[in-house]
Amino acid sequence: MATTAGVYRNGNHSRNSQSTNNNKAEKPLSFNPNPKNSLKSKSLPGSGLRRSAPSSLGTAKDDTGVPGRVRVAVRLRPRNEEEMVADADFADCVELLPEVKRLKLRKNNWDSDTYEFDEVLTEFASQKRVYEVVAKPVVESVMDGYNGTVMAYGQTGTGKTYTLGRLGEEDTSARGIMVRAMEDILADVSQETDSVSVSYLQLYMETIQDLLDPTNGNISIVEDPKSGDVSLPGASVAEIRNQKSFVELLRLGEAHRFAANTKLNTESSRSHAILMVHVKRSFKGRDSILSSETGNNPHMAKSLKPPIIRKGKLAVVDLAGSERIDKSGSGGHTLEEAKSINLSLSALGKCINALAENSSHVPIRDSKLTRLLRDSFGGSARTSLVITIGPSPRHRGETASTIMFGQRAMKVENMLKLKEEFDYKSLSRRLDIQLEKLIAEHEKQQKAFENEIERVTTEAKLQISESERTYAVELEKERLNNQKEYMESIKKLEEKWMMNQQKHAGGENIAGLKDESSNWISNGEDSRVANMEELSEMKTKLQKETLLRKAAEVEVNKLKSQLAELKKSEASAKSDISKLQKKLEDEACQKEKLEGEIAILQSQLLQISFEADETARRIDKGWYEKVPGSLDSLMLQVRQPQNNDSGNGEKASIAKLFEQVGLQRILSLLEAEDVDVRIHAVKVVANLAAEGFFLVLYQHFASASFYGQHQLIQNCASSDIPSKTNQEKIVEAGGLKSLLMLLRSSKDETIHRVAAGAIANLAMSETNQELIMAQGGIRLLSMTAGSAEDPQTLRMVAGAIANLCGNDKLQMKLRGEGGIKALLGMVRCGHPDVLAQVARGIANFAKCESRASTQGTKNERSLLIEDGVLPWIVQNANNEASPIRRHIELALCHLAQHEVNAKDMISGGALWELVRISRDCSREDIRTLAHRTLTCSPTFQAGMSRLGIDY
Ligand code: ADP
Ligand code: MG
Repeated sequence: MATTAGVYRNGNHSRNSQSTNNNKAEKPLSFNPNPKNSLKSKSLPGSGLRRSAPSSLGTAKDDTGVPGRVRVAVRLRPRNEEEMVADADFADCVELLPEVKRLKLRKNNWDSDTYEFDEVLTEFASQKRVYEVVAKPVVESVMDGYNGTVMAYGQTGTGKTYTLGRLGEEDTSARGIMVRAMEDILADVSQETDSVSVSYLQLYMETIQDLLDPTNGNISIVEDPKSGDVSLPGASVAEIRNQKSFVELLRLGEAHRFAANTKLNTESSRSHAILMVHVKRSFKGRDSILSSETGNNPHMAKSLKPPIIRKGKLAVVDLAGSERIDKSGSGGHTLEEAKSINLSLSALGKCINALAENSSHVPIRDSKLTRLLRDSFGGSARTSLVITIGPSPRHRGETASTIMFGQRAMKVENMLKLKEEFDYKSLSRRLDIQLEKLIAEHEKQQKAFENEIERVTTEAKLQISESERTYAVELEKERLNNQKEYMESIKKLEEKWMMNQQKHAGGENIAGLKDESSNWISNGEDSRVANMEELSEMKTKLQKETLLRKAAEVEVNKLKSQLAELKKSEASAKSDISKLQKKLEDEACQKEKLEGEIAILQSQLLQISFEADETARRIDKGWYEKVPGSLDSLMLQVRQPQNNDSGNGEKASIAKLFEQVGLQRILSLLEAEDVDVRIHAVKVVANLAAEGFFLVLYQHFASASFYGQHQLIQNCASSDIPSKTNQEKIVEAGGLKSLLMLLRSSKDETIHRVAAGAIANLAMSETNQELIMAQGGIRLLSMTAGSAEDPQTLRMVAGAIANLCGNDKLQMKLRGEGGIKALLGMVRCGHPDVLAQVARGIANFAKCESRASTQGTKNERSLLIEDGVLPWIVQNANNEASPIRRHIELALCHLAQHEVNAKDMISGGALWELVRISRDCSREDIRTLAHRTLTCSPTFQAGMSRLGIDY
């Protein structure tokens, strides 16, 4: 990126040259020795405003710019056939010395004046070389994000159009600067991230005509009070994707120019042709710049790298012939007409003179051409001028004046400035996507983890129950065995005992049993031994049994310890679960933080745009002196958030505002006498209505250090706060009523705009929508829609109505009170943002209707069709701007859901659009909806076969 003059690829503006020319009045290549103090920057109010743009908006450059003088080349046309004959005996009036970049203009046979130029192009110079020295450096600057101008000046017939506008279709070496420039641009841009678009215009008699759309007759120039940039919002803009379409566009423009000139009886040599090429390029964000700008917020520096957008604008200007009007044979003009025809060119000459002489007044506003080219001379663009001359001595006078013009232009110093800004919108989009990805990832992880836990738990339970079962079975088996063995032993003992009894019972009665037994003992030594054996056998058995029982006990213990082990692993799984849950909570917390930051960014953006507005007003009106004392410092705090280092400053100042004045007080200021106070109060309310601010505020109140005695703070600190939004507070305190009242009573456009913005924000909630309707809001919004002119006001109003359109309950009332007509009326403004809101409103309304018709609560034709919306939506269904197109495509699909609408839609041409949508809408859901509708509806089917659409 070029931050110093030295980095400039083609900037050789410090070329030192000892001029040897003998011209006294003109001093070629005499530079302004001190360009920073040059009066040019003073003469451009735009440059002062640009400087005041808040740095937090992300202008990644300091605003001083790079000095860059206007470069001037001279090109000599070869003698044409007529001159070969007529001037055969005479020498050319000029002699070129290209090696030393000088030109000699003959005074007479022995004397001549010498002039030095940046480039001297002889009659043999090829178109390629002319492009490379004159235009290529400018095109490269445009690609780097600067504005650039290439302009041809000279007498009619000397080759301006030849140099700039030749298409060279039959002979590619003849291609002029326009075609070659576009070739270089297209080769350098990325089709995905960048865009190239052109407008092609003709300026004649102070009227700008659109060469791409001849019906577009009188286009006005709009100057951005903030940046000083000029634009032509009424001009057609064609997106350029390839060289072929561009050449076709140029040919179309030429044809229109020819037709227009025939119709108006204009000579094309008296009109200026202007080609505007807009190049918008997007670059990935850079860490270094951000971390230095957001030094006190390291988190932001890490995660927020907004892409940078560079917007370069190339103007290629084929000026009208520089000869005086009476000489060009344009008889038949009245003096007034002649003046008007010459006005722009002579104003250009005057401006260049003033700039060359460092005059304190540069009459930029005198003509449309100078207004349009304010950036090209003494502005921030890189400018290259080619002056064309013929060789004929008969035109020596014109040639001399052309050369003088070029010499003066060489003294004009511009300050090149990079047109670069951060693309916060796409950053916010990117963050949203990132956030969604993170959430999805966490959900996935959590799910997987829950599944794993479930699996482990079931497995453990299964193992436990299996072990318990085996244990029970084993135990039972063991018990039965033991019992059996025991019983058997008992039985055996009994048998033995019985046997012994029987042995001793022989011959003696039972009463002598005692004797018998003593007999048995004394007499039967053998049997006693046998008994002893029996006993020891029993003992062994008992021991065996004891051992078995012990083994079983060991088995039981083993199983028990296994059970304990399983329980332990279950517990550790549980602790894992809780750890993961904690992690999940942390992530949720992180997400919340990110959301907060997005909200802060959005609110900063809002605040910054308000701030920029204010700065402009302040410069215009010297506002500070007018604010009444008590509010002074507060308003200043609100209006100067960038004085603090970071977003925290803003939070603090809004919070401070609450602390010191309170919502009621702010609302009461909505009715203040002083318009400025009123405007600021509306802005503060609008800020609060934008929900993002609430978060900021709440966080601030929640911090332990913040305790105030004001009621509002107590309210905020109470537990119900997170559910109670700013919007509710504003509505409760009567803020909605006050905002609506401002729409009715105020005549100030800024108030209308900001109040409508706040109402649009409030109208996002269903409750508020009903309140707005009940308080006659739609009538007031419609009234504002009818009278407002500023596109931003209209966008806010359209946004508010669009929100109301999405409420099923309010359909009849909204339409009855003229809401749809008002919405449709706003398309007159033509601004794409407004059109997008209108289209959104229509889509919302159509959606509610289609819902009602599917529920059977609506049988009549669509109110949108009744109110004449159809022609506009058919006309814009294929609008280039995707937000507009997308809403309209949706609206058409919704309308088509209801068979009663079909006939009107067919006769209004909507069927073609539906077919197109069903085939090539880039959004699959809309495509499918359109396709389904077309195949299901008998009326559409019949319509298609009648129109010969093969579906
Ligand atoms: P201008 O736009 O300044 O009125 P044109 O570009 O229409 O002039 O040129 C007038 C005529 O001179 C055209 O026929 C053009 O082809 C021819 N011409 C101009 N410059 C050259 C050149 N450098 N070489 C050859 N022919 C030229
Ligand atoms: Mg021409």
